[in-house]
Amino acid sequence: MRPLPAAFAEYRWAPSSEEIAREFGLPLADVRRFDGNVPPTPTPAARPEAIAEAFARLNEYAHGGFPALVEAIAQYAGAEPENVVLGAGADDLILLCARSFAGPGDVVEIDPQPTYPLFRIAAQLAGAEVGGASPVVTFTCRPNNPTGVQGSLPSARPLVVDEAYFEFAGETAMHLLDEGVVVLRTFSKAFGLAGARVGYALAAVDVAAELNRRQAPMPISGISAALALAALEHGPEVAPHVAERDRCAAVLSGLGLEPPPSRTNFLFVPVRDPEAVGAALLRQGLVVRVFPDGIRFSVRDRADDDRLLDALAVATADEISPAARSTH
Ligand code: PMP
Repeated sequence: MRPLPAAFAEYRWAPSSEEIAREFGLPLADVRRFDGNVPPTPTPAARPEAIAEAFARLNEYAHGGFPALVEAIAQYAGAEPENVVLGAGADDLILLCARSFAGPGDVVEIDPQPTYPLFRIAAQLAGAEVGGASPVVTFTCRPNNPTGVQGSLPSARPLVVDEAYFEFAGETAMHLLDEGVVVLRTFSKAFGLAGARVGYALAAVDVAAELNRRQAPMPISGISAALALAALEHGPEVAPHVAERDRCAAVLSGLGLEPPPSRTNFLFVPVRDPEAVGAALLRQGLVVRVFPDGIRFSVRDRADDDRLLDALAVATADEISPAARSTH
C-alpha cells in the first residue's frame, strides 16, 4: 500500500452505548448520546411504507441511479439535477472531493481550524499535505463543527463548503457554485437519517459531472434513497432543536459557562478540564465529545438535556465563579 503520513490519525468512534453501559454498570436505557450531532429520533417520514417499493427490488441494481431523488434534492436546494452528486453521507463526498482535487505532492487548505477531522483525513488519504501555501483546494465548514459558529466564507477557490448543518443556520454558499464553490450537505442532521448514509454535493454542472465520473457507480442503497426521498417530502425539522439549543445556551450562561453562539443543533462549552468533565458525565451514561479546550454536546430533548445540564453544573462547579453560581 501507499504509505500514510507518519502522523496520520484515522477517524475514531467513541465507545458504543453497550460498552459504556457495561463499563459503568448502567442500564443501557440510561445511556444518552450527546456526541453525534444528530436529532434524538428519526424523521417521522422513515416509515416502512416509505421503503416498501425499494424493498421489493432489493435483488436489483438501480440502473440509471436515483433520478427521482436527484430531482427532489435539486428542487429542495434550488439547483438543477445536473448540479447534484450523491454520496454515502457528506463523509463520502468529502473523500470524493479530496481525491478529485488533490493528490500526492499537493497542498490542501483547511480553514477554519479546529474543524471536522475528516477534511484532514481525506486530504492525507489522497496523498496530499495539509497546509496553507498554494493550496489546490480549500475546505471550510459552515457552520463550523465543533464550535457551531457561522464564520466568514474563505475567498480561496476552489472551495468546498461543508454545510452539514445548513438547515439550522439557513445560510448557504449555493449562489457561488459557478465561481468554483462546491457545497456539501447531508440527510444525517436536520433530516434525522444518519444511519441511512445519504449526502450530496452541489456543484457547477461541469464540476458535478467530473465528481460523478470519480464517484462509485452506486454509492447509496435503494433503501437509503427511498428514505431520503420520503424525508424530503416531509421536510427538515429544525425549529424545536433550535429552540432547545437556545434554552440550553441560556442555562449554561446562567451557570457562568460561555458557549459561543451556535447556528447548529449542538453547543460547544469551554471548560478548564474537558477530560475530567467528560469522564464525570460518562460515568452517569451521558456521552459528550471531549476536545482540548471544551466539550461539545448535541441537544436532544428537554428531559435529556436537563439531565446533562444538571450533571454539567456539578462537574464544572469548581470552575464556575461563586458569583455566577449564586445567581442561578
Ligand atoms: N460534516 C460535518 C461538519 C459533520 O459534523 C458531519 C457529521 N459528524 C459530517 C460531515 C458527516 O455527515 P454524514 O453522516 O453525512 O457523513
